[in-house]
Amino acid sequence: MSAYHVPDARGMVKLDAMENPYPLPSELARAMADLLAATPVNRYPDPRAFELKAALRQAFAIPAELDILLGNGSDELIQILTLALARPGATLLSVEPSFVMYRLIAEFCGIRYVGVPLTSAFALDEAAMLAAIAEHRPALVFLAYPNNPTGNAFDRAAIERIVRATPGLVVVDEAYHAFAGGLSFLDQVTRYDNLLVMRTVSKLGLAGLRLGYLVGAPGWIAEFDKLRLPYNVGVLTQRAARFALQNLAVLEQQAARIVAERARLKQALEAFAGVEVFDSVANFLLLRLGRASAVFEGLKRRGVLVKNLDGAHPLLADCLRVTVGTPDENRCFLDALKAELETRS
Ligand code: PMP
Repeated sequence: MSAYHVPDARGMVKLDAMENPYPLPSELARAMADLLAATPVNRYPDPRAFELKAALRQAFAIPAELDILLGNGSDELIQILTLALARPGATLLSVEPSFVMYRLIAEFCGIRYVGVPLTSAFALDEAAMLAAIAEHRPALVFLAYPNNPTGNAFDRAAIERIVRATPGLVVVDEAYHAFAGGLSFLDQVTRYDNLLVMRTVSKLGLAGLRLGYLVGAPGWIAEFDKLRLPYNVGVLTQRAARFALQNLAVLEQQAARIVAERARLKQALEAFAGVEVFDSVANFLLLRLGRASAVFEGLKRRGVLVKNLDGAHPLLADCLRVTVGTPDENRCFLDALKAELETRS
């Protein structure tokens, strides 16, 4: 195995990790600091995070009949789910290309991993999915909605048919929910007894807190809770997240700016000859351009860090992924890309 690689981004315009580029407004940051100063760090956190869960339930309209499991980022929830379902002969199924942690976590939890390729347009290959489900009878299926790194949201009806065909659990990973114009499967969780929805506050502007949440039927959540280490969400994260959720409108306004900026960035990129830009309902754009790896290195030399996906999967040949930043950051990226493409023409 190799560890998940996080490149050094010191001093760079950082557009590689789908962070919200806007910090908390300073008056909110100061109020948060006061609350954290009054938080008893000599005590263990509330192991059930009662107040934080209530705040999440209210902020995101989580139905009363569903329960919530919190993770140290949704990465930890993927690990808990996978650990719970890993046993000899069991299969975890996802699509490719998608979020690489599904495969990585499957590997180290000792569950067989099956990745079904998307179509060349990055849509679900429904026939291939249904055939793989029939063949492998997966215990666990992850579908990122919208998908990372492609940025699109898969067909809703196709996802529902996959949920119905799957003998195990299907987890719809809505990490990019804040940018997807309300697209969600949360309202479907009570309709299917094998469906759960996972989200994170990372992309909404709280990546540093490390907080993900899984929503599902109480029976499932109780099983996964057995594998959660007792104090997995620290007292500072619990307190800071509660405060941030009380000010959700600020984060939602930032997300709306990012969505507006996504359209401007896409339009600017489409003006470059030889650059293909894929539609996105997330806070990043996937691009395809000639000699992507060399362009990636050139951008880095010019101080702009994006994600190089060339070589990550055959469907991602010559692809780069760029997070939507502030207007200034996006301008830096566009200028660096322009200069880079000019030196190569
Ligand atoms: N799911 C998807 C689809 C993601 O892209 C990411 C982060 N890149 C995560 C989950 C993990 O997010 P976090 O651990 O920060 O909650």
